[in-house]
Amino acid sequence: MLPIADTLIAARWIVPVLPRDVVLEHHAIVVAQGAIVDMLPISAGLEKYPSARVVNLPDHVVIPGLVNLHTHAAMTLMRGLADDLPLMTWLHDHIWPAESRWAGADFTRDGTLLACAEMLRGGVTCFNDMYFFPEAAAQAILQARMRAAIGMIAVEFPSAYATDAGDYLSKGIALRDTLRDEALLSFCLAPHAPYTVSDETFERIVVYAAELDVPVHIHVHETADEIRDSLAAHGARPLQRLKNIGLLGPNLIAVHAVHLTPQEIALLAEYGCHVAHCPTSNLKLASGLAPIRALAQAGVNVGLGTDSAASNNRLDMFSELRLAALLGKHGAGDAAAIPARQALEMATINAARALGLDAKIGSLEIGKRADITAIDFSTPALSPCYDPLSHLVYAAGRENVSHVWVDGELLVENGALLGIDSAEIMARANYWRDKIHQGGT
Ligand SMILES: [Zn+2]
Repeated sequence: MLPIADTLIAARWIVPVLPRDVVLEHHAIVVAQGAIVDMLPISAGLEKYPSARVVNLPDHVVIPGLVNLHTHAAMTLMRGLADDLPLMTWLHDHIWPAESRWAGADFTRDGTLLACAEMLRGGVTCFNDMYFFPEAAAQAILQARMRAAIGMIAVEFPSAYATDAGDYLSKGIALRDTLRDEALLSFCLAPHAPYTVSDETFERIVVYAAELDVPVHIHVHETADEIRDSLAAHGARPLQRLKNIGLLGPNLIAVHAVHLTPQEIALLAEYGCHVAHCPTSNLKLASGLAPIRALAQAGVNVGLGTDSAASNNRLDMFSELRLAALLGKHGAGDAAAIPARQALEMATINAARALGLDAKIGSLEIGKRADITAIDFSTPALSPCYDPLSHLVYAAGRENVSHVWVDGELLVENGALLGIDSAEIMARANYWRDKIHQGGT
């Protein structure tokens, strides 16, 4: 028996990502109960599913929803608060003082909703989050109807959210227990970084990760200073220290991974670790260039992330796609490095794989959830089109996103957010700007 189709998306082009190197022309994606149930030529689809709601996208390319593998969504409220500073000055003198004064549940909820609105409008359907008050973030994400991996954050220092690392972890794990049946949510353990988390806490995280079977999401090898300080404090580079504690494995998402020796690249490959590449953040904080081609050639799964809007300052995966391809070429000294196909995989299936969600999302295949983004090519800047994959990475921008579905639900239509009150979200953002501005950082 045929499934009762809700929606038939009739597209000029479909780039499913998997199988590789396939571009379908004049094909339809059929969605029923949040899942992709068929992909076939448009004419055959209209005949086979006469009762489906048809969405005609005659000049559009349809791709899997983009997956942002690393962000701190609530920090969108600190977009542009402090720029043009090195990482540690930026953190110690601006971001951490502002957070310690203002970051609470309301701040996190408002900031996360603002981030969801920005990301959805830009074709992102799923993100991997790390921030305080994850229960407030989860509330905003469920309100926005997006998919996300919620970080069970751990640091040693106290905040308004938790008193010490044990308190952070127990709160995170309790939240996961409460929300584990939410279909759009998954969870990661999220120790902030080797320089903010002790060996003892890492040892507990190794045990929890095995018990809960969840990824571990951590900033690592972001700057040269981080490595020098680790050698002074622990007698080992951060990755070596994590290896000694038993943290390296196929559930580890190493964010940034900028400063790596060839031996460390081999180590990440040997242990099946994933890397979240955040090219704009690395450039803005002058952290360096991650050796993306070498990592990929060694067999490391590399996904793409924006990092926060405080260090980017856009939650714009189209910018990251283009930069990842361009910097990959520059870093390798080879124009053939990181071709468009590989960049798009980093922003879709690779990021989904790192989150353990690749059986559900990351490509347009029958049986997967219907997380779908459409980009309208009927504009001079995207004309003519010889190869939609090339345009997606080198010519298109998030302003060209027209439609977005998450789990089969239409959340962006002709560039307009459905079900999210943008005016209200922006009013809340301005409320926080006035508060932070008047109160100082
Ligand atoms: Zn980050």
